[in-house]
Amino acid sequence: MIVAVHALTGAAIGRLCRDPGKAFILGALSHLIADHLPHLDLDPAPECLLAAAALGLVATSQGCDSSEFAGAVGAVAPDLENAVARARRLPEDRLLLPTHSRYHGRKTRGLGPQVMLAAGCLSLLCFGGRKRCQDAPERGISTR
Ligand SMILES: [Zn+2]
Repeated sequence: MIVAVHALTGAAIGRLCRDPGKAFILGALSHLIADHLPHLDLDPAPECLLAAAALGLVATSQGCDSSEFAGAVGAVAPDLENAVARARRLPEDRLLLPTHSRYHGRKTRGLGPQVMLAAGCLSLLCFGGRKRCQDAPERGISTR
């Protein structure tokens, strides 16, 4: 699964659960599920660019201390294993996560399912309702 799609999925989960700690854990768990879906993996360079763009989008739109950002980071974190493996030229069968080594989703030719998942997550982030006041105090405005 494209890392940026993992990030947006984790951010959407963070929007729903609203607790950064839980969002991080649920984001990481979502990674395992998403890796099972049929998908097309990209080359490392576009993967890194898209991941940085997705994390940057979530950080600037939701805040670095938000549950959305925590969910995005949690969802991306398992792919650090892939980055280390590529840097060290480790074979896939030496990867620790089962979805990276044995239970990886079927390869597809197109990006359609991933684009649809990303669009759904972006819709939830943009139009999925507002956080309660106690969950998201006004940024930059002090009440004291
Ligand atoms: Zn993965």
